[in-house]
Amino acid sequence: MNTNKNKMFKSSWTYHEAPESTDHIQIKEQYELYINGAFTKPVEGKYFDTINPSNNQKIASIAEASKKDVDKAVKAAKKAFKGWAALSGKERGKYIFRIARLIQERAREFAVIESLDGGKPIRESRDIDIPLAANHFFYYAGWADKLAYAFPNRKVKPVGVAGQIIPWNFPLLMAAWKLAPALATGNTVVLKPAETTPLTALKLAEIIHDSGLPKGVVNIVTGAGATGAEIVNHPEVDKIAFTGSTGVGKYIQNAIAGTHKKVTLELGGKGANIIFEDAAIDQAVEGIINAIFFNQGHVCCAGSRLFVQESVANVVIQKLKDRMETLIVGDPLDKNTDIGAINSKKQLQTIENYIKIGLNEGVEIYQPDCNLPKKGNWCAPTLFLNVSQSHRIVQEEIFGPVLAIQTFRTIDEVIEKANNTPYGLSAGVWTQTGSKIFHLTQKLNAGVIWANTFNKFDATSPFGGYKESGFGREGGLHGLSSYVTFD
Ligand code: NDP
Repeated sequence: MNTNKNKMFKSSWTYHEAPESTDHIQIKEQYELYINGAFTKPVEGKYFDTINPSNNQKIASIAEASKKDVDKAVKAAKKAFKGWAALSGKERGKYIFRIARLIQERAREFAVIESLDGGKPIRESRDIDIPLAANHFFYYAGWADKLAYAFPNRKVKPVGVAGQIIPWNFPLLMAAWKLAPALATGNTVVLKPAETTPLTALKLAEIIHDSGLPKGVVNIVTGAGATGAEIVNHPEVDKIAFTGSTGVGKYIQNAIAGTHKKVTLELGGKGANIIFEDAAIDQAVEGIINAIFFNQGHVCCAGSRLFVQESVANVVIQKLKDRMETLIVGDPLDKNTDIGAINSKKQLQTIENYIKIGLNEGVEIYQPDCNLPKKGNWCAPTLFLNVSQSHRIVQEEIFGPVLAIQTFRTIDEVIEKANNTPYGLSAGVWTQTGSKIFHLTQKLNAGVIWANTFNKFDATSPFGGYKESGFGREGGLHGLSSYVTFD
C-alpha cells in the first residue's frame, strides 16, 4: 500500500471511539505521604497538583515531602530494618506475593490511573506496564527464600535502607523494579515517584498497607527533585537506586562520592535499531514503530536511531511512512490509540526544541497527517531523514516520538556508527542470519540487544547500561546483587 492509499484508508475509515471506562476507579482529592505504615500530612503542609497531560486538568493534590519528612521516612525504614531483615525469606516472600496478587486484582484500576496521570495509551498500561509490575513482584517473591541458591556458598546480608528514585515514563513498573528485589533480600525502602506521575505509586502504597507489610518497611514520599536530593544526601540511607536522566545520575554520583552508599544508575539512551537487507522487512517496519513510538518515545531504551542497509533503505522508509499514516494519536484512554499524550508541558517543550534544532541543522523531516487534539500535550510521530553522526538530534536523547534515520553499507560501518554515542543502553538487530546476530551482539556497546524484536521486557532478564547509560543491573538474578552485601 502506498502513502496515498493509506491516506485514503484513513479518511474513509473511522474508528468508533472505544474509551476505557473510568467509573470503577477511585481517586482522592488529596494524597498524603506514606511513612511508617500511615498516610501522613507533610510537615510543612505543602501540596502540588498532579495534572492529566491529555487535557492539562488537575487530577489531585499531592503532598510535597520536605527534608523533615524524608528524615522521618528514613528513620522509619531504619527502625523497621532489623525486624524485616531477620524475618525468614519464606515470610518475606509471602508479603511480596500478596502485593503481586493485589496488583493483579486491581489491574484495571491501576491501568486507567497510569494512563490518566502519565498520558500513555491504555493498551500499553493495561497489557504491558501493570502485568509486568505484578510479574516483578511474583518473580522476586520467588527468590526471597532461595537466596542461598542465588549466591551459592556465600552468606549474604541486606544492605540496609534503600533510597529509590524513579522517573515518569513507567511509574508503577519502575516502582516494582526497585521495590521487589529490595524487599526480597531484606532491605527497607524510601521511594520517591516522579512529580508528574505520583498516583500509581500512591495507589501501590494503599495496596502495601492492605497487604499488612510491617510498618516502615516501605515508605513512599512524593515531591520534586529537591525531595529526591534529600533522600540521596541523607546520611542513614545505605543504597541509592535511581532511574532518570544522565544529568541527575551524575549529580547523584557526585553527591555520594566518599560515602558508604552503594548505587545503581539506570540513565538515558540513544538506542541503535539496525535493519539488514536480509531482514523480514514487514516485521522490521513494525519493529521500528514499536521501538520509537511505544510510550510516545518516553523510553530510555527506545530505538531512536535507525540504521537501514542502503540496498533496502527506500523500501523500508516508504513502508515506514505508510505505516505511520495509520497511527492514531489521541486520547490515552481510547483503546484505539497508538500514541498518547506527551507526559508534561516541559517534556513537550524539550521535544519541540529538538525538532527545531533538527530543522535548523537542515535535516529533512517527515510527519504524517494527524489530527492532534486541541487541548493537552501532543506531538506527531516524526522522522528525520538523511541525518549525519554529528547532528545533535542523532547524539542527544530526545525522549519523544522522534526517529533519526541513517543508512549503511557494511557490518563494520554500522557497528562503528551504532557505537558512536555517549550512551550504551540498548540496540536491535534485524536479520535472518544468526551468525550476524552473534557477531553484532559481541561488538555493540549496549546492555540490552534485541534480535528481530524490540522493547521486550521480562522480570527474569537483567536490564542496564554501559557508558553514560549508567551501571548496575535490574531484573533477573543480577537484580538481587545490588541489594546484598557478602560476609
Ligand atoms: P529527571 O532525571 O530529573 O527525573 C528522574 C527522577 O529524579 C524524578 O523522580 C525526579 O524528580 C528526580 N530528581 C530530579 N532531580 C533530582 C536530584 N537532584 N536528586 C535526586 N532526584 C532528583 O528527569 P526529567 O523528568 O527532568 O527528564 C529530563 C530528561 O531526562 C528527559 O527528557 C529524558 O531525556 C531523561 N529521562 C530519562 C529517563 C530514563 O528512564 N532513562 C526517565 C526520565 C527522564 P521529579 O520528577 O519529581 O522532579
